[in-house]
Amino acid sequence: NKRMKKKELIVISGPCSAETEEQVFKTVELLSSVPNLGFLRAGIWKPRTRPNMFEGVGEVGLKWLVDAGKHFGLKTSTEVANAQHVEKALKAGIDVLWIGARTTVNPFSVQEIANSLKGVNVPVYIKNPVNPDLNLWIGAVERIKNTGIQDVSLIHRGFSTYGKSIYRNEPMWEVAIEMMRLFPELRMICDPSHISGKRELLQQVAQKALDLDMDGLMIESHITPDIAWSDAQQQVTPADLQVLLGNLSYKKQHSENTQFISQLEQLRSDIDVLDEQLIRLLGERMDIVEKIGLFKKQNNITVFQVERWKEILDNRSELAELLHLDKTLVEEIFKAIHKASIDKQSKV
Ligand code: PEP
Ligand code: MN
Repeated sequence: NKRMKKKELIVISGPCSAETEEQVFKTVELLSSVPNLGFLRAGIWKPRTRPNMFEGVGEVGLKWLVDAGKHFGLKTSTEVANAQHVEKALKAGIDVLWIGARTTVNPFSVQEIANSLKGVNVPVYIKNPVNPDLNLWIGAVERIKNTGIQDVSLIHRGFSTYGKSIYRNEPMWEVAIEMMRLFPELRMICDPSHISGKRELLQQVAQKALDLDMDGLMIESHITPDIAWSDAQQQVTPADLQVLLGNLSYKKQHSENTQFISQLEQLRSDIDVLDEQLIRLLGERMDIVEKIGLFKKQNNITVFQVERWKEILDNRSELAELLHLDKTLVEEIFKAIHKASIDKQSKV
Protein backbone atom coordinates (compact mmCIF):
# COMPACT_ATOMS: atom_id res chain seq x y z
CA ASN A 1 0.00 0.00 0.00
CA LYS A 2 2.75 2.41 -0.87
CA ARG A 3 1.55 5.80 -2.03
CA MET A 4 1.77 6.15 -5.80
CA LYS A 5 3.89 9.19 -5.26
CA LYS A 6 5.42 10.79 -8.27
CA LYS A 7 8.62 12.60 -7.47
CA GLU A 8 7.20 15.68 -9.09
CA LEU A 9 4.01 17.42 -8.12
CA ILE A 10 1.24 16.68 -10.65
CA VAL A 11 -0.15 19.92 -12.02
CA ILE A 12 -3.50 19.87 -13.80
CA SER A 13 -4.66 23.09 -15.40
CA GLY A 14 -6.95 24.55 -18.00
CA PRO A 15 -10.12 26.60 -18.07
CA CYS A 16 -13.10 26.01 -15.82
CA SER A 17 -15.09 25.69 -19.05
CA ALA A 18 -14.27 25.32 -22.70
CA GLU A 19 -15.92 28.39 -24.25
CA THR A 20 -14.66 28.75 -27.81
CA GLU A 21 -12.16 26.88 -29.96
CA GLU A 22 -9.88 29.90 -29.86
CA GLN A 23 -10.04 30.30 -26.07
CA VAL A 24 -9.17 26.63 -25.57
CA PHE A 25 -6.33 26.70 -28.09
CA LYS A 26 -4.77 29.90 -26.79
CA THR A 27 -4.99 28.85 -23.15
CA VAL A 28 -3.43 25.48 -23.93
CA GLU A 29 -0.71 27.15 -26.01
CA LEU A 30 0.34 29.25 -23.02
CA LEU A 31 0.02 26.31 -20.63
CA SER A 32 2.32 24.23 -22.80
CA SER A 33 5.27 26.20 -21.48
CA VAL A 34 4.40 25.50 -17.81
CA PRO A 35 7.02 23.02 -16.65
CA ASN A 36 5.74 19.61 -15.49
CA LEU A 37 2.15 20.15 -16.49
CA GLY A 38 0.58 16.73 -15.92
CA PHE A 39 -2.50 17.15 -18.07
CA LEU A 40 -5.10 19.66 -19.22
CA ARG A 41 -8.56 20.19 -17.83
CA ALA A 42 -11.68 21.84 -19.26
CA GLY A 43 -15.33 21.55 -18.33
CA ILE A 44 -17.57 20.60 -21.28
CA TRP A 45 -20.81 19.91 -19.41
CA LYS A 46 -21.02 22.28 -16.46
CA PRO A 47 -23.08 21.33 -13.42
CA ARG A 48 -24.29 24.80 -12.52
CA THR A 49 -26.11 25.57 -9.32
CA ARG A 50 -28.66 27.86 -11.01
CA PRO A 51 -30.27 27.09 -14.39
CA ASN A 52 -29.61 30.46 -16.00
CA MET A 53 -25.85 30.10 -15.78
CA PHE A 54 -23.59 28.94 -18.62
CA GLU A 55 -23.99 25.18 -18.74
CA GLY A 56 -21.05 24.34 -20.98
CA VAL A 57 -20.62 24.14 -24.74
CA GLY A 58 -21.28 20.40 -24.82
CA GLU A 59 -19.89 17.75 -27.13
CA VAL A 60 -18.37 20.17 -29.66
CA GLY A 61 -15.86 21.32 -27.02
CA LEU A 62 -14.37 17.84 -26.65
CA LYS A 63 -12.79 18.14 -30.07
CA TRP A 64 -11.34 21.58 -29.29
CA LEU A 65 -9.72 20.22 -26.15
CA VAL A 66 -8.41 17.00 -27.68
CA ASP A 67 -7.09 18.83 -30.76
CA ALA A 68 -5.31 21.45 -28.66
CA GLY A 69 -3.88 18.72 -26.44
CA LYS A 70 -2.58 16.78 -29.45
CA HIS A 71 -1.12 19.93 -30.98
CA PHE A 72 0.93 20.71 -27.88
CA GLY A 73 1.58 17.14 -26.78
CA LEU A 74 -0.54 17.31 -23.63
CA LYS A 75 -3.04 14.87 -22.17
CA THR A 76 -6.60 16.01 -21.55
CA SER A 77 -9.31 15.57 -18.92
CA THR A 78 -12.91 16.54 -18.47
CA GLU A 79 -15.76 16.12 -15.99
CA VAL A 80 -18.30 13.38 -16.56
CA ALA A 81 -21.62 13.22 -14.75
CA ASN A 82 -23.41 10.38 -16.53
CA ALA A 83 -22.90 7.42 -18.88
CA GLN A 84 -23.45 9.51 -21.99
CA HIS A 85 -20.67 11.92 -20.98
CA VAL A 86 -18.31 8.98 -20.43
CA GLU A 87 -19.11 7.52 -23.82
CA LYS A 88 -18.68 10.84 -25.65
CA ALA A 89 -15.51 11.81 -23.80
CA LEU A 90 -13.84 8.46 -24.45
CA LYS A 91 -14.91 8.45 -28.09
CA ALA A 92 -13.42 11.92 -28.56
CA GLY A 93 -10.11 10.71 -27.13
CA ILE A 94 -10.08 12.38 -23.70
CA ASP A 95 -7.32 10.74 -21.61
CA VAL A 96 -8.53 11.23 -18.04
CA LEU A 97 -12.03 11.56 -16.56
CA TRP A 98 -13.04 13.28 -13.36
CA ILE A 99 -16.22 13.03 -11.33
CA GLY A 100 -17.40 16.38 -9.97
CA ALA A 101 -18.44 17.21 -6.43
CA ARG A 102 -22.13 17.42 -7.34
CA THR A 103 -21.96 13.93 -8.82
CA THR A 104 -20.00 12.21 -6.04
CA VAL A 105 -22.94 12.98 -3.72
CA ASN A 106 -25.27 10.82 -5.79
CA PRO A 107 -24.66 7.05 -5.63
CA PHE A 108 -27.06 6.48 -8.57
CA SER A 109 -24.96 8.72 -10.80
CA VAL A 110 -21.65 7.31 -9.60
CA GLN A 111 -22.92 3.78 -10.20
CA GLU A 112 -24.14 4.75 -13.67
CA ILE A 113 -20.68 6.11 -14.48
CA ALA A 114 -19.06 3.01 -13.00
CA ASN A 115 -21.24 0.73 -15.15
CA SER A 116 -20.30 2.65 -18.27
CA LEU A 117 -16.61 2.19 -17.42
CA LYS A 118 -16.68 -1.62 -17.32
CA GLY A 119 -13.85 -3.02 -19.41
CA VAL A 120 -12.37 0.43 -19.99
CA ASN A 121 -8.97 1.41 -18.71
CA VAL A 122 -8.96 5.14 -18.11
CA PRO A 123 -7.67 7.08 -15.09
CA VAL A 124 -10.55 8.42 -12.98
CA TYR A 125 -10.21 11.31 -10.54
CA ILE A 126 -12.93 11.55 -7.91
CA LYS A 127 -13.70 14.88 -6.30
CA ASN A 128 -15.00 14.99 -2.75
CA PRO A 129 -18.81 15.31 -2.42
CA VAL A 130 -20.11 18.85 -1.84
CA ASN A 131 -20.94 17.94 1.75
CA PRO A 132 -18.32 16.62 4.19
CA ASP A 133 -19.59 13.05 4.16
CA LEU A 134 -16.59 10.74 4.18
CA ASN A 135 -18.66 7.67 3.33
CA LEU A 136 -19.99 9.19 0.11
CA TRP A 137 -16.43 9.81 -1.02
CA ILE A 138 -15.35 6.32 0.03
CA GLY A 139 -18.43 4.84 -1.66
CA ALA A 140 -17.58 6.54 -4.94
CA VAL A 141 -14.03 5.15 -4.80
CA GLU A 142 -15.41 1.66 -4.15
CA ARG A 143 -17.95 1.86 -6.97
CA ILE A 144 -15.30 2.96 -9.50
CA LYS A 145 -12.71 0.46 -8.25
CA ASN A 146 -15.25 -2.37 -8.41
CA THR A 147 -15.49 -1.91 -12.19
CA GLY A 148 -11.82 -2.84 -12.47
CA ILE A 149 -10.50 0.69 -13.03
CA GLN A 150 -6.94 0.59 -11.69
CA ASP A 151 -5.92 4.20 -11.76
CA VAL A 152 -8.17 6.04 -9.30
CA SER A 153 -7.16 9.34 -7.70
CA LEU A 154 -8.84 11.78 -5.34
CA ILE A 155 -9.42 15.52 -5.67
CA HIS A 156 -10.00 17.64 -2.58
CA ARG A 157 -12.10 20.72 -3.57
CA GLY A 158 -13.57 21.70 -0.22
CA PHE A 159 -17.10 21.55 1.18
CA SER A 160 -20.03 23.90 0.93
CA THR A 161 -21.35 25.56 4.06
CA TYR A 162 -24.18 27.91 4.83
CA GLY A 163 -23.17 31.40 5.84
CA LYS A 164 -20.05 33.48 5.66
CA SER A 165 -16.61 32.08 5.03
CA ILE A 166 -13.46 33.43 3.42
CA TYR A 167 -13.51 30.32 1.24
CA ARG A 168 -15.95 29.44 -1.49
CA ASN A 169 -15.78 25.90 -0.14
CA GLU A 170 -14.41 25.21 3.35
CA PRO A 171 -11.27 23.12 3.01
CA MET A 172 -11.90 20.98 6.12
CA TRP A 173 -8.44 19.53 5.58
CA GLU A 174 -9.10 16.81 8.15
CA VAL A 175 -11.54 15.10 5.76
CA ALA A 176 -8.90 14.88 3.02
CA ILE A 177 -6.32 13.73 5.56
CA GLU A 178 -8.63 10.93 6.66
CA MET A 179 -9.02 9.81 3.02
CA MET A 180 -5.23 9.82 2.67
CA ARG A 181 -5.01 7.62 5.75
CA LEU A 182 -7.70 5.22 4.47
CA PHE A 183 -6.38 5.11 0.88
CA PRO A 184 -2.60 5.63 1.11
CA GLU A 185 -2.19 4.13 -2.36
CA LEU A 186 -4.33 6.80 -4.06
CA ARG A 187 -3.03 10.17 -5.19
CA MET A 188 -4.56 13.14 -3.42
CA ILE A 189 -4.82 16.21 -5.64
CA CYS A 190 -5.87 19.55 -4.18
CA ASP A 191 -8.12 21.91 -6.14
CA PRO A 192 -7.31 25.33 -4.67
CA SER A 193 -9.51 27.05 -7.27
CA HIS A 194 -12.83 25.70 -6.00
CA ILE A 195 -11.73 25.90 -2.36
CA SER A 196 -10.70 29.55 -2.70
CA GLY A 197 -13.25 30.96 -5.09
CA LYS A 198 -10.94 33.93 -5.58
CA ARG A 199 -7.42 34.33 -6.95
CA GLU A 200 -5.98 35.96 -3.83
CA LEU A 201 -6.33 32.78 -1.79
CA LEU A 202 -4.89 30.32 -4.30
CA GLN A 203 -1.26 30.60 -3.24
CA GLN A 204 -1.82 29.87 0.44
CA VAL A 205 -4.25 27.02 -0.21
CA ALA A 206 -1.83 25.43 -2.70
CA GLN A 207 1.01 25.75 -0.19
CA LYS A 208 -1.08 24.15 2.53
CA ALA A 209 -1.76 21.19 0.21
CA LEU A 210 1.97 20.73 -0.29
CA ASP A 211 2.62 21.03 3.42
CA LEU A 212 0.11 18.21 3.91
CA ASP A 213 2.07 16.06 1.44
CA MET A 214 -0.63 16.03 -1.23
CA ASP A 215 0.40 14.77 -4.65
CA GLY A 216 -0.76 17.48 -6.99
CA LEU A 217 -2.78 20.59 -7.75
CA MET A 218 -5.70 21.22 -10.08
CA ILE A 219 -5.84 24.95 -10.78
CA GLU A 220 -8.13 26.63 -13.28
CA SER A 221 -6.51 28.88 -15.86
CA HIS A 222 -7.92 31.04 -18.61
CA ILE A 223 -6.46 33.28 -21.26
CA THR A 224 -8.61 36.19 -20.02
CA PRO A 225 -9.88 35.14 -16.58
CA ASP A 226 -11.87 38.31 -15.88
CA ILE A 227 -14.25 37.65 -18.75
CA ALA A 228 -14.49 33.87 -18.27
CA TRP A 229 -17.99 32.46 -18.74
CA SER A 230 -17.77 30.55 -15.45
CA ASP A 231 -15.74 30.92 -12.22
CA ALA A 232 -14.16 34.19 -13.42
CA GLN A 233 -12.95 35.30 -9.99
CA GLN A 234 -10.92 32.20 -9.28
CA GLN A 235 -9.21 31.62 -12.63
CA VAL A 236 -5.69 32.83 -13.36
CA THR A 237 -3.72 33.35 -16.55
CA PRO A 238 -1.21 30.62 -17.43
CA ALA A 239 1.53 33.17 -16.66
CA ASP A 240 0.13 33.74 -13.16
CA LEU A 241 -0.11 30.00 -12.69
CA GLN A 242 3.62 29.79 -13.38
CA VAL A 243 4.31 32.49 -10.82
CA LEU A 244 2.18 30.67 -8.25
CA LEU A 245 3.98 27.38 -8.88
CA GLY A 246 7.33 29.14 -8.67
CA ASN A 247 6.44 30.63 -5.28
CA LEU A 248 5.62 27.30 -3.70
CA SER A 249 8.06 25.92 -1.22
CA TYR A 250 8.48 22.21 -1.75
CA LYS A 251 9.00 20.09 1.31
CA LYS A 252 10.40 16.62 1.25
CA GLN A 253 8.72 13.76 3.04
CA HIS A 254 12.03 12.22 4.02
CA SER A 255 15.56 13.30 4.70
CA GLU A 256 18.87 11.52 4.22
CA ASN A 257 20.48 13.56 6.98
CA THR A 258 21.22 10.99 9.69
CA GLN A 259 21.45 13.55 12.47
CA PHE A 260 18.02 14.90 11.56
CA ILE A 261 16.63 11.36 11.38
CA SER A 262 17.92 10.34 14.80
CA GLN A 263 16.73 13.57 16.45
CA LEU A 264 13.30 13.16 14.89
CA GLU A 265 13.17 9.55 16.09
CA GLN A 266 14.09 10.63 19.61
CA LEU A 267 11.39 13.30 19.69
CA ARG A 268 8.84 10.88 18.30
CA SER A 269 9.63 8.28 20.92
CA ASP A 270 9.22 10.98 23.60
CA ILE A 271 5.76 11.63 22.15
CA ASP A 272 4.97 7.90 22.17
CA VAL A 273 5.82 7.71 25.88
CA LEU A 274 3.66 10.72 26.71
CA ASP A 275 0.75 9.41 24.63
CA GLU A 276 0.89 6.13 26.52
CA GLN A 277 0.81 8.03 29.81
CA LEU A 278 -2.14 10.08 28.60
CA ILE A 279 -4.08 6.94 27.75
CA ARG A 280 -3.24 5.21 31.04
CA LEU A 281 -4.32 8.32 32.95
CA LEU A 282 -7.52 8.43 30.97
CA GLY A 283 -8.14 4.80 31.96
CA GLU A 284 -7.59 5.62 35.64
CA ARG A 285 -9.91 8.60 35.31
CA MET A 286 -12.59 6.38 33.78
CA ASP A 287 -12.30 3.91 36.67
CA ILE A 288 -12.99 6.74 39.11
CA VAL A 289 -15.87 7.95 36.93
CA GLU A 290 -17.38 4.48 37.19
CA LYS A 291 -17.04 4.47 40.99
CA ILE A 292 -18.74 7.85 41.17
CA GLY A 293 -21.51 6.48 38.95
CA LEU A 294 -22.15 3.58 41.32
CA PHE A 295 -22.03 5.90 44.28
CA LYS A 296 -24.56 8.27 42.72
CA LYS A 297 -26.85 5.37 41.90
CA GLN A 298 -26.78 4.00 45.44
CA ASN A 299 -27.65 7.46 46.73
CA ASN A 300 -30.24 8.18 44.04
CA ILE A 301 -28.40 11.19 42.60
CA THR A 302 -28.60 12.38 38.96
CA VAL A 303 -25.68 11.46 36.67
CA PHE A 304 -25.29 14.95 35.21
CA GLN A 305 -24.78 17.94 37.45
CA VAL A 306 -24.41 21.19 35.65
CA GLU A 307 -22.53 23.09 38.42
CA ARG A 308 -19.87 20.39 38.61
CA TRP A 309 -19.47 20.38 34.82
CA LYS A 310 -19.15 24.18 34.75
CA GLU A 311 -16.55 24.01 37.48
CA ILE A 312 -14.53 21.38 35.59
CA LEU A 313 -14.61 23.29 32.32
CA ASP A 314 -13.70 26.66 33.91
CA ASN A 315 -10.96 25.20 36.02
CA ARG A 316 -9.38 23.17 33.20
CA SER A 317 -9.42 26.02 30.71
CA GLU A 318 -7.95 28.36 33.32
CA LEU A 319 -5.10 25.92 33.82
CA ALA A 320 -4.68 25.66 30.06
CA GLU A 321 -4.28 29.43 29.80
CA LEU A 322 -1.81 29.45 32.66
CA LEU A 323 0.28 26.85 30.80
CA HIS A 324 0.00 28.79 27.51
CA LEU A 325 -1.97 25.98 25.93
CA ASP A 326 -4.71 26.55 23.38
CA LYS A 327 -7.81 27.04 25.54
CA THR A 328 -10.27 25.75 22.94
CA LEU A 329 -8.20 22.63 22.39
CA VAL A 330 -8.32 21.78 26.10
CA GLU A 331 -12.04 22.59 26.25
CA GLU A 332 -12.74 20.34 23.24
CA ILE A 333 -10.80 17.51 24.85
CA PHE A 334 -12.67 17.87 28.14
CA LYS A 335 -16.02 18.06 26.38
CA ALA A 336 -15.22 14.71 24.75
CA ILE A 337 -14.04 13.22 28.05
CA HIS A 338 -17.10 14.52 29.86
CA LYS A 339 -19.43 13.07 27.26
CA ALA A 340 -17.75 9.67 27.59
CA SER A 341 -17.99 9.93 31.39
CA ILE A 342 -21.71 10.68 31.28
CA ASP A 343 -22.23 7.74 28.91
CA LYS A 344 -20.31 5.47 31.25
CA GLN A 345 -22.24 6.56 34.33
CA SER A 346 -25.56 6.23 32.51
CA LYS A 347 -24.71 2.60 31.80
CA VAL A 348 -23.93 1.88 35.47
C1 PEP B 1 -14.95 22.25 -11.93
O1 PEP B 1 -13.93 21.59 -11.75
O2 PEP B 1 -15.05 23.17 -12.73
C2 PEP B 1 -16.11 21.95 -11.06
C3 PEP B 1 -17.36 22.11 -11.48
O3 PEP B 1 -15.74 21.59 -9.85
P1 PEP B 1 -16.52 20.96 -8.61
O4 PEP B 1 -17.10 19.66 -9.07
O5 PEP B 1 -15.41 20.78 -7.63
O6 PEP B 1 -17.52 21.97 -8.16
MN1 MN C 1 -14.89 25.73 -12.10
